[in-house]
Amino acid sequence: MNVPIARTALTEAEIESVLGPLRSGWLVQGPKVREFETKWSDFTAANHSLAVTSCTTGLHLAAVALGLGAGDEVIVPAFTWIATANIVEHQQAKTVFCDIDLETFNIDIPAMEAAITPRTKGIIPVHLFGLPANMDAVNAVAKKHGLWVIEDAACGFGATYHGKHVGTLGDAGSFSFHPRKAITTGEGGMVTTNNADLAETIRQLRDHGAAMSDHQRHLGPRPYLLADHPLAGYNQRMTDFQAALGAAQMDRAAKIVTERRRLAARFDEAFAGLDWLRTPQEPDGCKHSYQSYPCLFKAAEIRPDTVKRINGERNAWMEDLQAAGVSTRPATHAVHMLTYYREKYSLREEDMPNAFAANDCSISLPLFHGMTEAEQDYVIATVLKGPA
Ligand SMILES: *Cc1c(COP(=O)(O)O)cnc(C)c1O
Repeated sequence: MNVPIARTALTEAEIESVLGPLRSGWLVQGPKVREFETKWSDFTAANHSLAVTSCTTGLHLAAVALGLGAGDEVIVPAFTWIATANIVEHQQAKTVFCDIDLETFNIDIPAMEAAITPRTKGIIPVHLFGLPANMDAVNAVAKKHGLWVIEDAACGFGATYHGKHVGTLGDAGSFSFHPRKAITTGEGGMVTTNNADLAETIRQLRDHGAAMSDHQRHLGPRPYLLADHPLAGYNQRMTDFQAALGAAQMDRAAKIVTERRRLAARFDEAFAGLDWLRTPQEPDGCKHSYQSYPCLFKAAEIRPDTVKRINGERNAWMEDLQAAGVSTRPATHAVHMLTYYREKYSLREEDMPNAFAANDCSISLPLFHGMTEAEQDYVIATVLKGPA
């Protein structure tokens, strides 16, 4: 048997939904984008949802709307997808990495607070792999120092923090619809915010800075007059056929989350007795949505001087699993170890020891809605054989 790390599972009706906009002739941001946004706001209870071309462009637009510019500093956890940091660089601002908590893979609060300087403008906590970051603590520190908070909620669909959906806890949040995420539009993203002024700025920025969208203008009383442009914006509009695909999946949003949590619970139970594989944690008040199932290999043995040895053993085990037909991946990468950031900011891997350990010793197992019981049984049996 071959079990992939992830597999998209679109229904025939969802696939068909793409054809509506193609047949109607309205292909770009229009009625389907509005429908997707409304469904997203209903599901997350965000006051405003704005569809964009990716989570990355959504994070960037939120940062631009919040005024991020040259010389500013932004705190980013070192263990995340590189995009979280790249959007800071795109504004000629400085990425200041802080370490993570190895229990949760999320931002470490004392490290975050220690990274604040007079130039710090904001914090980008990441709800990594679908586990909410410690947002009460992030927001308390941000408030104390007058900083904005943009949530990287790329993996956060279905994740709640004390009952509130992630992406509604900071100034703004951004979600991803890349195929590795639970809801997909191929490429795509959604920005959420409860701040009406911020929503309006992001709405204009995604659409060349226009005061009114093309769709509004076409439906309005004077479609022959062009809109004004108060801002020098970008083109980060989602197409209507992508939004149709997203909107169709929202009809089973709760089911998707439930299924992923059921699969994760089965893994949790199967692997509970293994002292060499630490399964994902779910702190009190957090609902994990399991965008993936990130484990830590030989967690109890991890120390600065053992990371490289454990890394070698993990890689050998991953190779064995691959040969047995079970795909795995490191959970994600430590961004401070990647060439651009390592060289620009003269960083060493041990500067962020937990991110370094997570980079070298984490392993994500296959988990996706649509995974069959036979597939999961096979993954369980193969993992339980253990490393050689
Ligand atoms: C997937 C991901 C992104 C990037 O999302 P895109 O939609 O591909 O831009 C950013 N941050 C994290 C944590 C991610 O997992």
